[in-house]
Amino acid sequence: MHEREFFDERPETRQQTMTCPFCRRQAEYGVRWMRRTKKAQLPRGADERDRAMFPKLRNYLVRLDDAITCGTCRRRFEIPSHQSIMFLE
Ligand SMILES: [Zn+2]
Repeated sequence: MHEREFFDERPETRQQTMTCPFCRRQAEYGVRWMRRTKKAQLPRGADERDRAMFPKLRNYLVRLDDAITCGTCRRRFEIPSHQSIMFLE
């Protein structure tokens, strides 16, 4: 069973302050993430391995955007955070 089947997915946009590496302007940008919320119950068809893994899973966000376009100079730059997965309580 794919890990994805243990979660409900919902896209969301989170504001993040970033500095453009070209023109050095700092601004807030909306970055798209996918929120993965663990299902209340183990889906049907789960095997032994799935049953062992399921209790350990946590809700998390995975970042969908890798790059954004600067609002000032219109150049595209990579989101300077290495954090593309964020675990939630
Ligand atoms: Zn710029």
